[in-house]
Amino acid sequence: MSKHFGHCRFVFNRFLHERKEAYEADKTSLNYYANAKSLTGLKKETEFSWLKEVNSQSLQASLKHLDTAYKNFFKQQNRFPRFKSKHERQSFKVPQNVFVVDEKLIIPKFSEGIQLKQHRPLEGKILFATVSKTTTDKYYVSITCEQAYIPYPKTGKAVGIDTGIKELVILSDGSRHENIKSLKTSLKKLKYEQRQLSKKQKGSHSRLQQKRKLVSVHEKITHIRKDYLHKVSTEIIKNHDILVVEDLAVKNMLKNHRLAQAMSDVSLGTFYTMLEYKAKWNEKDYVKIDRFFPSSKTCSNCGWINQELKLSDRKWMCSDCGEIHDRDLNASKNILNQGLKILSGYGTQSDIKQKREEALSLDKSANPEALPISFAVGG
Ligand SMILES: [Zn+2]
Repeated sequence: MSKHFGHCRFVFNRFLHERKEAYEADKTSLNYYANAKSLTGLKKETEFSWLKEVNSQSLQASLKHLDTAYKNFFKQQNRFPRFKSKHERQSFKVPQNVFVVDEKLIIPKFSEGIQLKQHRPLEGKILFATVSKTTTDKYYVSITCEQAYIPYPKTGKAVGIDTGIKELVILSDGSRHENIKSLKTSLKKLKYEQRQLSKKQKGSHSRLQQKRKLVSVHEKITHIRKDYLHKVSTEIIKNHDILVVEDLAVKNMLKNHRLAQAMSDVSLGTFYTMLEYKAKWNEKDYVKIDRFFPSSKTCSNCGWINQELKLSDRKWMCSDCGEIHDRDLNASKNILNQGLKILSGYGTQSDIKQKREEALSLDKSANPEALPISFAVGG
């Protein structure tokens, strides 16, 4: 496996270098086919015959990966490709001939199989696999399968969604999803391990070990959080046809930036992304409301605006109609109302349907049916 990681990294770096040189020399740009041809030549040289030790398709996949990185750079979607380092996360792709038999992963050059701990059953047709190793020496394989997607049935319900720190989401129907406790425990552990790190001598072996421990805690936190965000976003999508959210950029402007805050900002971004793509998969409307709409200050009952509302006010009474508001619930009700106004502004129902179809067809290129599934490889 080390050979696969190493050889694929070598191919990526070597051809990145070659492409850079060709461009600097006479502005020629080498494409994937030029690179693939050179790679075949390279393998015939005695000096580089060791490249034959690994699955040749994985090496070609490295070249494709490089090519995509280049294309994304020129589309201005990404920064210029960087050389891969052996100190970062390692990976190689297996584009074909991936099988899972009796809890074993079978890929070219590993005909005896690699024991794995499967997290969920495989569904659909296997397309390809990516084997990776974290900096903490954990091995994973992500297997991408293709299957027909069956959207959740329609419910006829619309919902406004507000997000916060203590509670992850507050829905306009009054239901709430708290930020999970297990995360709090892990965050405490994180703080503890960070303190331990500061006590270790710089450059010492025990400091290095402590650093690895810290990365492990970070990994665990990421996994717990992601799993929870998936559960909550799926539940919301299942139960509603129209989802109205606030632009996250505004929320960030209003906040200060302590550690817990910054971490919650990251998960909020992920949460909105999940909601958005799951809405597309399930043919539901996802509406983002205007960034300067005062969702907290407006009375959801009569529309009066409370200019005096402070960030610390959790409850307030409307001076106009006398309604008593829970700050977050009121905000999510306003978000819903505003979203429905925007939707009705589109015109007839068929216009909305058309807009949705446009959005869906745009997304087809991203192949929403291909869902990556991750497994941990044991051994
Ligand atoms: Zn009012």
